[in-house]
Amino acid sequence: MGLFDRFFKRKKDKDGNAAQGGTAANISPELERHVFCSGCFTVFPESKIHLIPFYNDTLRNYVTTYRCDSCWLDDIDETRKRLELTESSSEIALAAEFFKRHAVFIHEYLRGDPPEEVKGDLLRLIDLIQTGGLKLSIGKTEQM
Ligand SMILES: [Zn+2]
Repeated sequence: MGLFDRFFKRKKDKDGNAAQGGTAANISPELERHVFCSGCFTVFPESKIHLIPFYNDTLRNYVTTYRCDSCWLDDIDETRKRLELTESSSEIALAAEFFKRHAVFIHEYLRGDPPEEVKGDLLRLIDLIQTGGLKLSIGKTEQM
């Protein structure tokens, strides 16, 4: 085994966890993942969670936000209102980048169309999230 392999190659133990002495829990593909709703501070099965874009004032960016069935509609309304009211081209770009991170590409944004056009697309994407036509996903579970 070369030096690179010794430093960077990870062996798997029989349970599939990285063999680095960590305390990672076994993650069974049969078990549904659970997600913390940061609206009501409660944990729900992933199937009961909605991923929405939400503006974080501290980070000054749209971030992936997990909300339960009870919390998500108010908060996506808040995101919609914020986008409707913004005249900031950089904030519109931040929202477009949020969707890009979720592999939802807005052609008008990528080719440099005026922010007002991109804003219209963003509002349509918000509509799609609200009506169930677009469901953002958490992605795969990474081994710890
Ligand atoms: Zn909640």
